[in-house]
Amino acid sequence: MVKEKTAMSFKAPGKINLTLDVVRRRDDGYHEVKMIMQTVDLHDVITLTALEPGIERIVVETDNDTLPTDENNLVYKAAKLLMDEFHINQGIRITLEKNIPIAAGMAGGSSDAATVLCGINEMFGLGLSKEELMERGVTIGADVPYCVMGKTALAEGIGEKLTSLKDAPRCFVLLAKPDIDVSTKFVYENLHANELKYHPDVDKMIERIEADDLDGVCQVMGNVLETVTIPAYPVIEEIKNIMKENGAVNAMMSGSGPTVFGIYDSREKAEAAYRVLEDRNKRTKDLAKLVVTTLV
Ligand code: ATP
Repeated sequence: MVKEKTAMSFKAPGKINLTLDVVRRRDDGYHEVKMIMQTVDLHDVITLTALEPGIERIVVETDNDTLPTDENNLVYKAAKLLMDEFHINQGIRITLEKNIPIAAGMAGGSSDAATVLCGINEMFGLGLSKEELMERGVTIGADVPYCVMGKTALAEGIGEKLTSLKDAPRCFVLLAKPDIDVSTKFVYENLHANELKYHPDVDKMIERIEADDLDGVCQVMGNVLETVTIPAYPVIEEIKNIMKENGAVNAMMSGSGPTVFGIYDSREKAEAAYRVLEDRNKRTKDLAKLVVTTLV
């Protein structure tokens, strides 16, 4: 039993995809992907507080009033999974400070779930290895195992077959999330995976990462999901172009979108582009989030 009111805080970082390819649509409807996942410093903050036994078992509090606080929140699911398995009778309060945009292609919810799995493992001394946490995480969502692992990784299968890679080259990242929610389901349902004319070269991306070559990484960036999301939401292309015209080595949509990221070789360039988009947003008011961050 953990002393009542013991509290521990953890960072839950978001991710971008340096490349995202859909290899094929399987007969069971799932899509087989091949993508490079990359953690960024923009993060949610999760605080776990042990409660006395007897009061409500899992209490979720968040500063974002659009998110559920019941079993539909992924942090609740993650806590319940381990607390049931290990018969933890004590209560827990999960406080979620949400900074990663929601339904944005940045795996915010999956990262929150992964962080709660790791946090409960530590707080209650469960002794599970990273691999054991990843095995449990995949039952919550395909991106959860990667979020347990973090950093730079190749993800295959439905996203759960992971290979850790060398850290990607140091750079600065400008993230812009248009004020629209894009459902991952909508994007995959409208992707003609078996008719794609272009596939990004994921193996070359790995080679360029291993060589610590930022220009090379930027040259081979590619995301097949742009073929669905950009025609539906042209603002994504507009933001990409503004980033590229303002010093980005390259810019692309992350995951199923709509978040756009620009890669810069200096903080000054990223901040200059930030100011251009900030000014534009004073007129258009169509961005929900704009932030300069780094890779982790
Ligand atoms: P991915 O990149 O994995 O597709 P995403 O960025 O598109 O993720 P999320 O922000 O992780 O999407 O979550 C989208 C949905 O999950 C929302 O409808 C939201 O209500 C629900 N959800 C449940 N728990 C959370 C959470 N802790 N944080 C964010 N979303 C959550």
